[in-house]
Amino acid sequence: MQQYEYTNKIYYDHFVLPFTIGLVVLLGYLCVRYYKWIKSFPKEERKKIRKGLFSFKTIRSGWEIFRESLLHHNIFKTNPMLGYMHMTFAFGWFLLIVVGKIESMVYHTSAFNPPYFAIFFRYFHPAKETFPYSEFFAFLMDLILTFLLIGILLAVTKRFCSRIFGMKKTTKQRAYDLLILTVLWLIFPVRFLAESFTSGLNGGGSFLTHNAGDFFSGFLPLESLSYPAWWLYSSLLGLFFLLLPFSRYMHIPTEMVYIFLKNWGVKQGKEYNGFSEIQVNSCSRCGICINTCQLNTSCNINDTQPVYFLRRLRNHEEYAQQAENCLMCGRCEASCPVGINLNAIRQSKRPDILRVTKDTYAYVPQPKVKPAKVAYFAGCMSHLTPGIIKSMQQIFEKAKADYTFIDEQAGVCCGRPLALSGNWKAAQV
Ligand code: SF4
Ligand code: SF4
Repeated sequence: MQQYEYTNKIYYDHFVLPFTIGLVVLLGYLCVRYYKWIKSFPKEERKKIRKGLFSFKTIRSGWEIFRESLLHHNIFKTNPMLGYMHMTFAFGWFLLIVVGKIESMVYHTSAFNPPYFAIFFRYFHPAKETFPYSEFFAFLMDLILTFLLIGILLAVTKRFCSRIFGMKKTTKQRAYDLLILTVLWLIFPVRFLAESFTSGLNGGGSFLTHNAGDFFSGFLPLESLSYPAWWLYSSLLGLFFLLLPFSRYMHIPTEMVYIFLKNWGVKQGKEYNGFSEIQVNSCSRCGICINTCQLNTSCNINDTQPVYFLRRLRNHEEYAQQAENCLMCGRCEASCPVGINLNAIRQSKRPDILRVTKDTYAYVPQPKVKPAKVAYFAGCMSHLTPGIIKSMQQIFEKAKADYTFIDEQAGVCCGRPLALSGNWKAAQV
């Protein structure tokens, strides 16, 4: 074995370019996007960010990101199999990056190696050369890769047989969704092949890639396959980064931003703005809202739940039907693991379909109310069940209350239907 010795060698090969270009473009895009969204917040919401930034809330957000974005604790609580699948992807990929970076730093004795160095470490690291804990790192990286490959297997199973995961429905995929999904599913198997081929040629690796390399070397021309496999791995990563902002996977970085903003106290207002966009893009399309919605479970309507509504908003598609066809019961919001303000977002978009002016209900007669100490407003729902009104009147009479019945002849509205349609101003008139 060659002994470990640090050199100033420059580690570079042209195959790292697709990964590097994809990463730089993605980071640039995200910075511009988030800046524009945050800039569109009302002034008082932006103030909350400045106040919250250097407070304990930021540390709490870090912990929540670890728990929700990486471990997917909330999805686990609702559906353990689904939670495990999401966790293997998110936490597995996170570990692959972090442990890979530590390994590259130990080998290179410097944190300032280029970002691609850790990602393609097995290509650049001469297998016959040892460095401190090299065998331990090889074992750990193989373990994490195994963890990720199990996640892929579960994801493929869920796509074709969602009932195993206790889900009656999964989201419907479109051509673009299928493209990026395929790219994501291929990334880790191709990494496994690239590492195994390299290991089969040069040695190195651990229980997974070393043994697979030995196996493949028995019947495959690894000299011709190894280098193209690294190109393919880098290209898949680059392509994934370029496609990410226009896909559901935008939720990976955006959910983290949302957790910070939420903990700093930023709130969804009545108007649709940049904060709404951040929430729309935080949806992981886990599909839990489809299964909790009674429109799906009782009426087999499954094209209007938040996952579909948010997708239409994100893709700038027609959304009138999805905005309207909802009972606003809030069951989906209560079960959403990301904690998106689903009803408020739907409400903020409804006036785009039907904007009510304050005069629309001018024909409703105004009640003549006699002055009294107690004012009783029954509302339309109580008028539909007159027994409630009768009981209330009996209570007032028994209590000898000086009361007046505002809407005895009906005709006056509390404004709830208008508020639910997002026409807040008209509702207040
Ligand atoms: S809205 Fe919430 S529950 Fe529905 S798919 Fe998105 S993250 Fe999941
Ligand atoms: S709020 Fe609408 S989409 Fe959500 S569970 Fe109720 S009816 Fe379904």
